Amino acid sequence: MTLAGCGGSATGAAAGRPSTSSSPSAKTTSGDNVPPGGTETVSRTIEYTTGAKDRSIALTFDDGPSPVWTPKILALLAQYHAHATFCEIGPNAKAAPATVQAIRAAGDRLCDHSVSHNEAMSKWTEQRQTYEITGARQMIVEAGGSGTEVSWFRAPGGDFSPLNRHISAVNGLRPLGWTVDSNDWQRPGVATILSNIRKEIRPGAIVLMHDGGGDRSQTLAALQQLLPQLVSEGYSFDFPAK
Ligand SMILES: [Zn+2]
Repeated sequence: MTLAGCGGSATGAAAGRPSTSSSPSAKTTSGDNVPPGGTETVSRTIEYTTGAKDRSIALTFDDGPSPVWTPKILALLAQYHAHATFCEIGPNAKAAPATVQAIRAAGDRLCDHSVSHNEAMSKWTEQRQTYEITGARQMIVEAGGSGTEVSWFRAPGGDFSPLNRHISAVNGLRPLGWTVDSNDWQRPGVATILSNIRKEIRPGAIVLMHDGGGDRSQTLAALQQLLPQLVSEGYSFDFPAK
C-alpha cells in the first residue's frame, strides 16, 4: 500500500465521522437507493461508540495487518491490558496470517477494510462493492483460521454509502466509523498525533489509528505515551458496539 493508503482525502476522512449535516448514517431517505435483495442481519447505520456506559474507548487500527508493526502494537496493548479492533485490508491479511492469528490470540477483534482500499468504492457497481467487502472478509477469515469472526466493515477513507452499508449489513458486518482521528497515517510527529487524540477523546469514543501503510514508529511512540495516560484517567478499553 502507498502512504496515502488511508484517510488520504479530507472529504473521505470526514465521511467516517459523525456529522449533523452530511452524515451518511442512520436516516433512510429517498436517495438511499438500497436494492431489495438480501436481509440485513445487523444494523447498517454507522457505529460511532463503544456502546458502554462506563469510561471506555475503542482503539481501532487500520490498513494492516503488518508483520512488522502489528506485533509491536499488540505487545504494547498487552502491557496495559488494553484491547483494540484491527480493520484489515484483505490481501494484507492473506500475506500475514500469523499476525492475524496473533490478534485473535490476544483477544482483540477484526474488522473488514476491503480488498483494494479504494477511497471511492462507493461509486463502483454493486457487484464490485460486494466483492470488496465479502472478498476481504474471506481473506481475513482464511488467514485467522477456523472460528475467526469479523464483526465490522470500515469503508476506506470512510467512503460509506447507503449501498455499501447495506451490503455490509447483509453480510453481518456493522459499518464502523470513528470519532477521534489521530491523523497518524500522515506521520505528523508524535506530539501532534497525541494532541489530535487528546482534543477529541471522551467516554465512548472510537479512535482511528493505523498499524499498516508503512512506517508506524510514530503511532507506536504515541501509543506508548497515550496508554498509561488513559489508564491513569480511568479509561478502559472496549470494542465498538455491534
Ligand atoms: Zn484505511
